[in-house]
Amino acid sequence: MLRLFMTLACLIALPTLATSQEPAKRKPNIIVVYADDLGYGDLGCFGNKKIKTPNLDKMAKQGIRFTSFYVAQAVCSASRAALMTGKYSNRTGILGALGPNAKHGLAREHTTIAEMLKLLGYRTGIIGKWHLGHLAEYLPTRRGFDEYYGLPYSNDMWPKHPTAKFPDLPLIDGEKIIAKNPDQSKLTTEYTERAVQFIKKNKDHPFFLYLPQTMPHVPLFVSERFKGKSEAGLYGDVIMEIDWSVGEILRTLKDLGIDDDTLVIFTSDNGPWLSYGNHGGSAWLLREGKGTTWEGGVRVPFIARWPGRIPADRTQPIPAMTIDLLPTFSKLTGAKLPDGKLDGKDITPLLMGEAGAKSPHEAYFFYWNNELHGVRSGPWKLYFPHTYRTLEGSRPGADGKPGLYKELKCGLELYNLDNDLSERTDVAARNPEVVRRLQVMADRMRDDLGDTLTRKK
Ligand code: MG
Repeated sequence: MLRLFMTLACLIALPTLATSQEPAKRKPNIIVVYADDLGYGDLGCFGNKKIKTPNLDKMAKQGIRFTSFYVAQAVCSASRAALMTGKYSNRTGILGALGPNAKHGLAREHTTIAEMLKLLGYRTGIIGKWHLGHLAEYLPTRRGFDEYYGLPYSNDMWPKHPTAKFPDLPLIDGEKIIAKNPDQSKLTTEYTERAVQFIKKNKDHPFFLYLPQTMPHVPLFVSERFKGKSEAGLYGDVIMEIDWSVGEILRTLKDLGIDDDTLVIFTSDNGPWLSYGNHGGSAWLLREGKGTTWEGGVRVPFIARWPGRIPADRTQPIPAMTIDLLPTFSKLTGAKLPDGKLDGKDITPLLMGEAGAKSPHEAYFFYWNNELHGVRSGPWKLYFPHTYRTLEGSRPGADGKPGLYKELKCGLELYNLDNDLSERTDVAARNPEVVRRLQVMADRMRDDLGDTLTRKK
């Protein structure tokens, strides 16, 4: 009798249980804001005292800051190729910065984040600088994006370049050139308005919005509203406008009630362009900047926010890299990983600030073009003999004019980033076993990806 009663009670309770369960969560929206040449030290939440970035600071308070986040190569196109594909740049064949004369772009065999998510039914948009091929067959609209609005390459590749000759700079909507040499002081505002429209239009459907800002890459431009607003000159004003842009996006998500359904990431494509002096950013205490594999070139600010999923006010010191975003987005959305070899790995536990989370990587590798310059494992970063550019002993440019880099040679050098963030004291001689261990890792990578400094592939 008791058993019959229990069974009846269970049957009666079943519908109640079912309806009390949370409705199935929709697949998350993903927004990636990719600033151009913004340095590690350019944001309030990364220690800048002169440039006010209240929206990014708030975003960091509500989410997580990665303090050792890397790009794969410290230059525009190569960096973007790695972000979009989850592969080291040299595996994609995209190196350096593609110019208006480039005949190639990101090859079709390398699946983009947009293509991966598109297969899952995501709406996809890119607003800003693509830089992975400007010819029609390489445009974002052919690489998984429903919509495209922006510049196909860098904003300094135009007729007013201080030292080089370039043709007119196109502004593209979809696949159509709608303007030449557009008023760059309007770009950040236009991108932001477009981004807000895209979010509103797709609010009832999972979406991926990629917003690679044109700024603060030189030549710097800012709208009237932000002129003279910072204590750090035009560069600071430009960063304040980018901060405003992020604020508009976050406000839109909140107004639409899709805050909890949206992962927002803010980071930069490489460190500051130091030769531009007061028109370049700051790497803070990090050594060197854009165009080098030293920490100032490859380590960038990274903030992620996803209310209800990422705990508030977290700092993640464990290293991660842009190559990890595609596999992580696959994990978070259920999208099938592209076929073929990926270099990135799922870092969801690190992103979610889980206690005890560990890096899925033994090491990260730092190439410049096809030269393997360095490897980081734990606190150790080992550099191999190579030549790099520096401003040491010469003067940076000012007000939009570049200074002159000099070339210096780096030997086999080891740094412990835990107690020598600025990479000043080479401890290779004192740590032969660490050197050997990292050498072995590097040799394995050379067998896979090559290294024109030590061997032919
Ligand atoms: Mg850049």
